[in-house]
Amino acid sequence: MAERHVLGLSGGKDSAALAVYMRQTHPELDIDYFFTDTGEELPEVYEFLGRLEGYLGKPILRLNPRRDFKFWLKEYNNYLPSAQTRWCTRMLKLKPFEQWVTPMLKSGDKVTSYVAIRADEDYREGYSSKQYNLLIKLPFREAGIDKAGVMDILESSGVGYPSYYEWRSRSGCTFCFFQQKIEWVRLKERHPDDFDAAKALEKDALEHGSPFTWSKGESLSELEQPERISEIKAEYEARSARLRKRIPSNPLRPTKESPEDIDDVYGDDEGGGSCLICHK
Ligand code: SF4
Repeated sequence: MAERHVLGLSGGKDSAALAVYMRQTHPELDIDYFFTDTGEELPEVYEFLGRLEGYLGKPILRLNPRRDFKFWLKEYNNYLPSAQTRWCTRMLKLKPFEQWVTPMLKSGDKVTSYVAIRADEDYREGYSSKQYNLLIKLPFREAGIDKAGVMDILESSGVGYPSYYEWRSRSGCTFCFFQQKIEWVRLKERHPDDFDAAKALEKDALEHGSPFTWSKGESLSELEQPERISEIKAEYEARSARLRKRIPSNPLRPTKESPEDIDDVYGDDEGGGSCLICHK
């Protein structure tokens, strides 16, 4: 029986900051860092993980699902995953983690999993473990570290942010349905091959009766039309301007803009309730 420590990285800023924080505050712990790789990740995510590995001084384990996205799409009647039926997270993120951790738990090891829930976030039930020897720890909550604290950790360590924040507000698969429409437009501009691959998957799914499109209310073929792109960009600019005006300024505690805030202007209209496992 051994004591194991594990920390899952999503490719997003909170889990990366937690890895840095644990390295700084608990260098004595031999933590296994892991990333569940759906095979549909942005190149910027791999680049960021590489940067993080440099800081941590050890490799981040890549947990690959045994079956890829296309296999599961067929299994789920060609229904694209959606906020209502998020089978992708179950099969491509949770299952590989379970397959990895179950042998440790079965052999009686005590496994502590560190999760990047911040002090300014609600505790979510989903993080409790039902297994007696799997312990969940929330170091940021315990230490009172909020979003500004996470930003400080990443900036002061030199790790910085993933570069996809230049154009996208969340980590996750190239075709993640939690993307805002403006982010689909930018995916097309930045990674046209990934956009085309998502479009092909959607076309196939729709031909097989999928009730869902990647983006709410329209297919990617409709969304990519020049006049629709102009509309989406104009709406995004108008919303951003409105949002910036609403942010109160506090001279006593100036608030730094978090990279994902810059672009997450839609709130619950688009992308709300996004997946914590993929986007933390
Ligand atoms: S990032 Fe999005 S598409 Fe990928 S597994 Fe998570 S919820 Fe599904």
